[in-house]
Amino acid sequence: MERDRSSILIIYTGGTIGMQTDAETGALVPFDFGGIYEEFPSLKRLNVAIDVVTMSPVIDSSNVAPENWIALAELIRDNYDRYDGFVVLHGTDTMSYTASAMSFLLENLAKPVVFTGSQIPIGVLRTDGRENLITAIEIAGARSGGRPTVPEVSLYFQNRLFRANRTSKRSAEALSAFRSDNYPPLASVGVNIAYNRPAILPPPEEEAPLRVAGRLADGVAVVKLFPGIDERILRAMLSAPGLRAVVLETFGSGNAPTSGWFLRVLEEAIARGVIVLNITQCGSGSVSMELYETGLRLQRIGVLCGYDMTTEAAVTKLMYVLGLGLPEAEARALLRRPLRGEFTV
Ligand code: ASP
Repeated sequence: MERDRSSILIIYTGGTIGMQTDAETGALVPFDFGGIYEEFPSLKRLNVAIDVVTMSPVIDSSNVAPENWIALAELIRDNYDRYDGFVVLHGTDTMSYTASAMSFLLENLAKPVVFTGSQIPIGVLRTDGRENLITAIEIAGARSGGRPTVPEVSLYFQNRLFRANRTSKRSAEALSAFRSDNYPPLASVGVNIAYNRPAILPPPEEEAPLRVAGRLADGVAVVKLFPGIDERILRAMLSAPGLRAVVLETFGSGNAPTSGWFLRVLEEAIARGVIVLNITQCGSGSVSMELYETGLRLQRIGVLCGYDMTTEAAVTKLMYVLGLGLPEAEARALLRRPLRGEFTV
């Protein structure tokens, strides 16, 4: 039997969506999501009961840090049994990082966690936040055959629902601020919400309680290659104290220079136990290290293939996997396979 009313927890973390123009001064001031029904009476027509909690402190998402991610995951865990779904309101600048981190931290997730935000403050007449918020709530509460329709961490923006760990912010201007070039939308929104069911992750096979990994490792760095990259600087970066893993943004399908010094610097870092994960700096497509000599060399010295992962997913997956405190071989094994649909082999 379908349950008639879903209950949703909205978690406001900060960002543009939570701003409105002060009628007297014209300045942007925080919007009170506690008064959400008064502001958007049409919400009452959705068949959902809504509670709102505001993270403290509310932050611009440029200031978000792994501690905030753990706190958010724990908040979801602590409220998990009381709600059918969660909507996280977040600044757009780092939303893809937070949402990717959440996809790894929330182990055994079987309910929707939908991230959204806006490019124009919610209290400004032409805001994109109203539609983003209302549709995100509807998606978080959607059920099919008595089960949540989208039981994974997703990101809703401008008529499209994406798998969160496949997204990147693509525009500081356009209202369609996010892209997911390597994975199709989980839903497209027009007059109706058209779910792309085969693309949605199934809930975990065994019903296990939601668990939150308690630690995200530090010591992760991103190195973006460019022609003319300097040996001394790369060497200094890769021998930085505390370095544990590098996301190497390579060219094309995972290619890098074949010069002796370059491979030696990487090889020495790998010999010291540093994990090097190869992703492409192209917006779409995948790493395939067997294709060219320039990729094969990387594979031979022990660089791991990141396939079509985004930088956001690669960074947060490394933090998560290294935070589990596993022996190196087990950590490497987790990096070789998708854990939450974050890449396609
Ligand atoms: N600077 C804001 C943030 O990311 C921008 C936004 O919300 O769109 O918090």
